[in-house]
Amino acid sequence: MGTSASSTAPVIVWFRQDLRIDDNPALSAAAESGAPVIPLFIWSPEEEGNWEPGAASRFWLHHSLTELTISLARLGSPLIIKRGYSLSVLRDFAKEVGAHAVYWSRRYEPSTIVRDKNLKGALVNDGVDARSFNANLLFEPWQVLNAKNEPYRVFTAFYKAATALVTPPAPIDPPKKLVAPVKKVRSVAISDLMLLPKINWTMGLNDAWQPGEKGAKKNLEIFLDVLNRYVPDRDCPGVSGTSRLSPHLHFGEISPRTIWHAVRDTGKAGESKTTYLKELVWREFAHSLLYHFPHTANSPLRPEFERFAWRNDPDLLERWQKGATGYPLIDAGMRELWHTGWMHNRVRMIVASFLVKDLLLPWQQGAEWFWDTLVDADLANNTLGWQWSAGCGADAAPYFRVFNPVLQSQKFDPDGEYIKRWVPELSGLPKAWIHHPWDTPKEVLKAAAIELGKSYPQPIVDHAFARQRALEAFKQLKPVAAK
Ligand SMILES: Cc1cc2nc3c(=O)[nH]c(=O)nc-3n(C[C@H](O)[C@H](O)[C@H](O)COP(=O)(O)OP(=O)(O)OC[C@H]3O[C@@H](n4cnc5c(N)ncnc54)[C@H](O)[C@@H]3O)c2cc1C
Repeated sequence: MGTSASSTAPVIVWFRQDLRIDDNPALSAAAESGAPVIPLFIWSPEEEGNWEPGAASRFWLHHSLTELTISLARLGSPLIIKRGYSLSVLRDFAKEVGAHAVYWSRRYEPSTIVRDKNLKGALVNDGVDARSFNANLLFEPWQVLNAKNEPYRVFTAFYKAATALVTPPAPIDPPKKLVAPVKKVRSVAISDLMLLPKINWTMGLNDAWQPGEKGAKKNLEIFLDVLNRYVPDRDCPGVSGTSRLSPHLHFGEISPRTIWHAVRDTGKAGESKTTYLKELVWREFAHSLLYHFPHTANSPLRPEFERFAWRNDPDLLERWQKGATGYPLIDAGMRELWHTGWMHNRVRMIVASFLVKDLLLPWQQGAEWFWDTLVDADLANNTLGWQWSAGCGADAAPYFRVFNPVLQSQKFDPDGEYIKRWVPELSGLPKAWIHHPWDTPKEVLKAAAIELGKSYPQPIVDHAFARQRALEAFKQLKPVAAK
């Protein structure tokens, strides 16, 4: 081992959340070195702190690893899979195969940053060339700082600074081939990781998604065709108006640079393009916040919220989780999530507001449920989304913004198409009543075969009352100095 290695000393490429061969700088650098390349994945959920991958993420990972194995085998060197603590697996494995280098793409979650720093030091001590690359962000979190060298807490300022900084570099092509190691290397089978659930609840996920790099490219292509309608359609959950690239981005099956350049280079100009690119920068903002404020995955960014008297009500929580709140749009969103592992962004904001403001349940309980059920569960984005909704994060919704689930439903799902898809027991209701079935005249309910309280629940809380209660509770919070 050592940096002056012979040409047969392999380079290990440690795959994590960069499950692709396209625009993967670590893989390309390894291939260009001319040395044999050993692609490696280590399953080590215990190292993710409180945030071990949830059930939907594990489902996705199983399929994504399967697809990556095929792509890498085609290039000449299949994926090797190991289990255990990354540090010991990497050190032992590097010794076993006589590797002179380990390359990987950076991750930005608090627990992985600590782990990776340690691990880099240990590998360098062993004489291994340990190198990390940026594969997953357009801008590194430490690049986008204000004049005082501090991180931004307001999105618009972050956006301006980030986009003035550099144009994200163009994506790089995948390697044409990989040199396989001379000696055969042992791997565990993907099925041995037991990522798929014992009870098969993933049929809806299977129908909705194609995990892996091919699925990511397909979603990008489909989206580019409707990109010019992003602005009018992106808030309507009944219309396929967004890119559905979030799980692919989370697992690194497509790079943000690839998306950025594909969108920027498409002929269709205008507001939709700018707005979409801005959404990609929200993702960057989320990563910057988590990087600079690592405690925020579990605690509020605004410290006064630590003292907020959240309620504890497992029954209400369960009604929310199961999509049985009696508010059709909320129930549609929660059922879409359970069934497909994804929920439309507008509906995520509304169900989150309902949990924290109408029910006064802690945002962390919502974040945990999303974590387990979303195929795009991402610590940076989920934390930003929940802290924004609770009003305790950076650039958050002010406390007096309480989404009205009926008005939101009438505005963004006017014909009730989304509700009918996910709450079929309401599909017989005319659009005048579908957003608030409790006001529906008896004969209309009867004609639609609905018995409130039996075939569909009564609302679990009165929104007007809950709004007032939330306003009073949140008003009590007095700002305290930030951490
Ligand atoms: C309470 C709550 C929780 C959320 N949890 C997650 C999560 O765990 N993982 C996740 O990827 N997104 C999360 N989001 C953000 C957003 O809802 C999803 O990224 C989006 O719905 C994904 O669909 P899309 O790919 O079709 O989005 P598009 O509209 O096509 O946007 C393109 C990409 O931009 C990024 N993006 C868009 N909106 C946001 C946003 N508000 N914050 C950060 N990035 C954004 C995503 O990577 C997305 O794939 C959450 C939002 C809320 C309100």
